[in-house]
Amino acid sequence: MPMIGVLALQGAFIEHVNRLREVGADAVEVRLPADLDGLDGLIIPGGESTTIGRLMDWYELNEPVKQMAADGKPVWGTCAGMILLAREVDQDSRAQHQPLLGLMDITVRRNAFGSQLDSFEADLVMPPISDDPIPTVFIRAPVVSRIGPDVEVLATLSDGKIVAVRQGNLVATAFHPELTGDQRLHRWYMHLVRASAKQPAEAD
Ligand code: GLN
Repeated sequence: MPMIGVLALQGAFIEHVNRLREVGADAVEVRLPADLDGLDGLIIPGGESTTIGRLMDWYELNEPVKQMAADGKPVWGTCAGMILLAREVDQDSRAQHQPLLGLMDITVRRNAFGSQLDSFEADLVMPPISDDPIPTVFIRAPVVSRIGPDVEVLATLSDGKIVAVRQGNLVATAFHPELTGDQRLHRWYMHLVRASAKQPAEAD
């Protein structure tokens, strides 16, 4: 059974743990570097990206998480997690004090939907994951304002805004897939984790 960590410093981590268990993962809450030992993948949840980033720094989680990503383990950031995975944040969304892991070649804009539209739901077509639209929830969500050449777009809103991307073993979604009860994204992520966990054995 794949063992998947959910960063549990702040934000919506319990819901990810529940979804992962529903789809057959051994889900573990991660608060300290030792909690990352033996994990096959990691989810960085939604919440408040500056707070999560500062706590990651405080608990010395940045380097071991970067190492997991470099080892090819699937790391998935949702909402605030997307921001933390990004290489940079748009200047107009307060770049100066934003702690970032900088693992994905993307620029994100925090709180991109303005105060009048802090939260909304959207059915997204994501062909690599499902032929049918997937219900999603956006809560003070970011958007991706730039992608590098190695980044694949997984989903856009009807106006073209990029809200889900993948760069190899790294995935970032601007919305909260864990809040809808729809399991397709977590199932798809499990496929990524299973495929990456198999690779070293196949190479032997
Ligand atoms: N607005 C938050 C931030 O900038 C992200 C919101 C969320 O994760 N739901 O960090």
